[in-house]
Amino acid sequence: MISAIQYLRLVLFLLFTATVSAEEFGTVILQYHHVDTSTPAITSISIDDFRSHLDYLSENDYYVQTARELISTLSSDNEIPDKRVSITFDDAYKSIYTNAYPLLKQKRFPFTIFVTTDLIGRRHYLSADQLREMQQHGATIANHTHSHTHLLRMKTAESNDAWLLRVKAEIEQAQAILESEFGETPRLLAYPYGEYNQQVLDLVGQMGFVGFGQQSGAAGKGSSLLVLPRFPLSGIYTDLNSFRLKIRTLPMPLHVFPVLDPQVSEPTSQPTLSLQFKQGNFRLHQLSCYGPGGLTDLRQLSATEFIARSKVPVPVGRSRYNCTMPVNNSDRFYWFSQLWIRKNDDGTWYPEL
Ligand SMILES: [Zn+2]
Repeated sequence: MISAIQYLRLVLFLLFTATVSAEEFGTVILQYHHVDTSTPAITSISIDDFRSHLDYLSENDYYVQTARELISTLSSDNEIPDKRVSITFDDAYKSIYTNAYPLLKQKRFPFTIFVTTDLIGRRHYLSADQLREMQQHGATIANHTHSHTHLLRMKTAESNDAWLLRVKAEIEQAQAILESEFGETPRLLAYPYGEYNQQVLDLVGQMGFVGFGQQSGAAGKGSSLLVLPRFPLSGIYTDLNSFRLKIRTLPMPLHVFPVLDPQVSEPTSQPTLSLQFKQGNFRLHQLSCYGPGGLTDLRQLSATEFIARSKVPVPVGRSRYNCTMPVNNSDRFYWFSQLWIRKNDDGTWYPEL
């Protein structure tokens, strides 16, 4: 006979272990910029907070995978094991070497640096030697374009074809410099400012690159390898509670992962996001999406299909819909995010803050 307490323990164990089936696991990609407190807060995390993230990963048995492992995890037919994360840095700032690298090296955690090649060795940016040293100790060096331009911004009187060729040259030039400085370089591209549109995605696909965005959420088998989600961990989102919530997220259990062109224009400045869920026992009634005006309208079209639409026009600039849903019998969340980009109403681009 088992005691009541043992029985209760068993019930709780079964309840909390049988909640997420193996095919639902995804992998979370972390995005950092500066690891410093003297740099702009919006793109920075303190050394203490960064250290606490790494400590949390090691103390809780997370496996930190290389970019190569990440892509093979997402592309293979095998299920994704739980507790897999990847660490990425954008822009190749100096503090990666001075503040982040010593901690990463101590833990033997691999990481990826998306490098803007025109800025290598400039003030505040890493030198080629520093990048090479880190490459020898677990860093993957990858493409963040040559000049960190806003890829979607056409020049005055530039044709669509000329613009697309310029975007291609930005990526090719950076890749050529990376290969000559650092040897074989995987074809991984992080979009500057996380900005892309359908034509850019098509081009990146034709060029054989995997693309990384800045929309949050967990990556899963259904995620597009042309615009993988990443959780930005800077500004007000660096505390351990926020980190813990994000690394435990699962990919939204969608039948089809939408890959929408984020560019919106009047009269569709309240864009719709259609979410088609897999069949399953999900808490669909607790799905919620937040947009620029708070909670979005959520319309249920069928047992498994919802449409999210902002209650207010999305503002000029970049914004997102963030959709989450609690996982059954768990304190974890499914998470999917969609980027929106809106130009000024006169067709000009907004200034970058
Ligand atoms: Zn950048």
